[in-house]
Amino acid sequence: MMIRSAAKTDKGRKRPQNEDALLRDDRLRLYAVADGVGGHEGGEIASARAVATLARVMQGASAASDDTPPQGVAPGDRAKLSLLQAAFARANGEICDEAARVPGLAGMGTTLTAVLLRKDRALICHVGDSRAYLFRAGELRQLTDDHSVVAEQVRAGKITAEEAKRSPHRHVITRALGIDREVESDERTTPVREGDMLLLCTDGLTEMVDDAAIARVLAGSHPAAAVDRLINLANERGGVDNITAVVIALTAR
Ligand code: MN
Repeated sequence: MMIRSAAKTDKGRKRPQNEDALLRDDRLRLYAVADGVGGHEGGEIASARAVATLARVMQGASAASDDTPPQGVAPGDRAKLSLLQAAFARANGEICDEAARVPGLAGMGTTLTAVLLRKDRALICHVGDSRAYLFRAGELRQLTDDHSVVAEQVRAGKITAEEAKRSPHRHVITRALGIDREVESDERTTPVREGDMLLLCTDGLTEMVDDAAIARVLAGSHPAAAVDRLINLANERGGVDNITAVVIALTAR
């Protein structure tokens, strides 16, 4: 399977700076988005550090090992997921260290949602409320659970998804890198096939553009056109937050 990808981040229309960051590495088949929080320059520093550390750890591991397991063999996935998890833990530690060391950066943190493509599987590692989606046969499916107060209330059956969308607390996240020395990341593996698209995005997109509209954009679009359209749509609808989208299309050639 071939990969075509495109990625873009945009400040949006209301925020003075862009605290989102992204990673697009077609050689490693590694993609990520991060949404930083924290005063001063903290958010920007945390999200940039998260994606840079992820890339560095995965790059080093790829150089050190033969990365061509036989098709359909799953044990390697477990090792790669552990490696992603280790990269998340490393990024978390580095952000905590910097926040403790540099006055003004205390309290900075970031989401991080990453996908590593291996043959016919996507390996996903995730902390926070940025998202990974699978678009297949016209249908958009969220692959990550938001680590937010309202999403946890929805999963517990306490409020409905519609109530969550209107809640003033919808931006309060329950997990992030840089907050605690221990961070719990979610990992999953999902089968992918030719014709699938993957979308990674920050909440600046999903706050403005609902799943149905995202699906309409992805249908029949090349990744580069799709990321442009998604960011334009979010801005047309207000652009209240920084917006980041990474689109990966799996094609025959
Ligand atoms: Mn955001």
